[in-house]
Amino acid sequence: MSTFPTERTAIITGAVSERGIGRATASYLAAQGWSIGIIDLDDALCKAAAKELAAEHGVKAFGAGANVSDEGSVRAAIDAIEAELPQIVALANVAGVSSPVPYLELDAAEWDRVLNINLNGVHYATRRVAESMVKNRIGRIVNISSVSAQRGGGTFSKTPYSVAKAGVIGLTRATARELGEYDITVNAISPGPIDTDIMGGTLSEERKDELTKDLVVNRVGTTRDIAAAIAFLISEDAGYISGQTLNVDGGLYMH
Ligand code: NAD
Repeated sequence: MSTFPTERTAIITGAVSERGIGRATASYLAAQGWSIGIIDLDDALCKAAAKELAAEHGVKAFGAGANVSDEGSVRAAIDAIEAELPQIVALANVAGVSSPVPYLELDAAEWDRVLNINLNGVHYATRRVAESMVKNRIGRIVNISSVSAQRGGGTFSKTPYSVAKAGVIGLTRATARELGEYDITVNAISPGPIDTDIMGGTLSEERKDELTKDLVVNRVGTTRDIAAAIAFLISEDAGYISGQTLNVDGGLYMH
């Protein structure tokens, strides 16, 4: 059983948006002493977010812009983070886009856009960090799926989103199986409705009430609910959990 190095880095994709899950996760992990690598579309915003985290939490942080759907740019960003920060121990694949287009209005471009970002993007980042983690023989990867994968949509986003997020669960299980022998765990988190801006803008109180109706807890989720689950799954103590999908969804999906 491998143990964590004292100094260790978590890379978070999609960690720039102010009210998003990725940014909340970066902040939660920095507070726990992780060094933080930030990947998002805009290089300057990544670097600004990293600077803010470093100042607030006294940790090392580095931001590198990349489009996760472009394998070359993801690899370059992770190379740059690896050169600047301590050993990469964790990757949280959080970057994603919504897609409210009804199936009968769907064209090939929208299908490709959503699959390229929400599924291929997870694969590209995973594939690159796996190379380092295999060498180091320790790693933790967490992929953000969605309850949409399990319920066939039923949220703001529709078919291509649901398909991509279901693909993320398959990718999680298959990579967990192949990478397990190197002490690398791979898990998915399947969030229910979380109070961010991804579902067509900031949620009104009315919309939150509507979304809460299907849940067994009496509120929509917070970014901290997801950040805390990611923090647990990438912790040293979570080394016997792999290939799982953790539903952090207020009880929306039970199986
Ligand atoms: P968000 O829009 O606040 O965050 C998404 C982040 O991903 C942004 O910072 C954005 O710039 C970045 N991003 C988008 N496309 C990218 C690309 N091609 N390359 C790099 N970065 C890119 O939304 P959020 O709610 O924080 O979503 C985070 C993740 O959680 C997504 O994968 C989303 O599908 C998933 N999710 C969210 C909810 C919810 O209710 N909010 C529910 C289930 C799953």
